[in-house]
Amino acid sequence: MIEVQNLVKMYGDHTAVDHLSFRIEKGHIYGLLGPNGAGKSTTMNIMTGYLGATEGKVLIQGHDILKEPELAKKSIGYLPEQPPVYMDMTVREYLQFAAELKKIPKKEREKQMNDVIRMTGIREVENRLIQNLSKGYRQRVGLAQAILGFPEVIILDEPTVGLDPKQIIEIRELIRKLSKKHTIILSSHILAEIREVCDYIMIISRGKLVASDTPENLENRLKSSRHIELQAKAPVTRVQEILKEVSGIKKVDYRKDNNLMTTAQIETRNAKDIREEIFTAFARNNQPLTTLSLSQTTLEEVFLELTQGKYTASLAEQEIRDDGKEEVTGDGSDL
Ligand code: ADP
Ligand code: MG
Repeated sequence: MIEVQNLVKMYGDHTAVDHLSFRIEKGHIYGLLGPNGAGKSTTMNIMTGYLGATEGKVLIQGHDILKEPELAKKSIGYLPEQPPVYMDMTVREYLQFAAELKKIPKKEREKQMNDVIRMTGIREVENRLIQNLSKGYRQRVGLAQAILGFPEVIILDEPTVGLDPKQIIEIRELIRKLSKKHTIILSSHILAEIREVCDYIMIISRGKLVASDTPENLENRLKSSRHIELQAKAPVTRVQEILKEVSGIKKVDYRKDNNLMTTAQIETRNAKDIREEIFTAFARNNQPLTTLSLSQTTLEEVFLELTQGKYTASLAEQEIRDDGKEEVTGDGSDL
C-alpha cells in the first residue's frame, strides 16, 4: 500500500537519506528504528509529502505523493516530530481546523472529533488553549489530529518522546488498538519502544536501510554469528590441539592472556551450541576450563551492531546464503 522507491535526500552535500526502498503492507505495525540523525524524520516527511526528495519516489495506494498529493494524502495521517500545533487555538478549534483541512464531510466532523478526543484521552482539555498544555497533552492532540479522518495508514514520528512512563504506556495501548483497523508506521531511536509494539522492524543507519524483518527473524539471523568464549589454563598451542578434536567449529580467535592462560572466541557453524562437545574434549585431555560461555545475540546487539557496522558484513553474507542469489543488501563500506 506504500512503496518507497530509491529515496535520496541531500541537504547541501550531506546525504540524509541514501537510496532507501521499502514496502509497507496492510495490517502491520512497522517500526522505523535508528539512532538520532539516521534519517527517520526526513524519510517520514518525504513519505507524507511535507518535504520533496532529491531522488526517488513514494507511492501511496499507487498515487505519487508529489504528483497526486491530494489523493495520496487521503490515506495517511501523520504526527510529525514537531507537530505544527497552533498555540493560540483551543484543542477543539485546532481539531476542527484539521478536520476541515482533511475535508472530512461536515456531518461527520463532530462525531469524528468526539471519537478521537475520547480515544486520545484529551476530553478534559478540549477547551483549553494548546499553549497551556503539557508536552504529554500536546503530543496527544497531535495524535488526535493524525487519527482524524481514520486514514488507512497512520505515521507517527517518535510518538512517545518527552512523555512520562504512564503516558508512554497509554500511547502504546492506543497504538495497539489503532493497529486493529489501521496500518501503522512509527519511528523511534529506542529499541525497547519499537520491540514493544511493532511486528516489523526497519533499521536505518546513516540514511540507509540496514535490516528489515520481524523482531524474531532479526534475532535469529544474527545468531549465526553467535560465539562461544572459553578460557583455559593452557598455552595457545595446547588449546588449538584440543579444539581440533571438536567438530562444528568455523573459526577461532585466540588471545594469549599470559603464559598460562588462553582465551578463545569460537564461531560455530550454523550457530550451533557446541559447549558440551568442547567441555568433553577439554575433560578428556585433563585440561581445566575456567570459562565456557555462549554469547547470545539480543535485539539490542543486533541494533547496536547494525548501526555501528560490525555485523553488516555477516548479514550481507547471509543474504547470499539464504536466497542463493548474489544480491548483497548492504556493502558495509560506509557504515
Ligand atoms: P532522525 O529523525 O533519524 O533523527 P533526521 O531525518 O532528522 O534524522 O536527520 C537526518 C540527517 O539530516 C541528520 O544528519 C540531520 O542533521 C540532517 N538534517 C535534517 N534536517 C535538516 C535540514 N533541514 N537541513 C540540513 N540538515 C538536516
Ligand atoms: Mg527524527
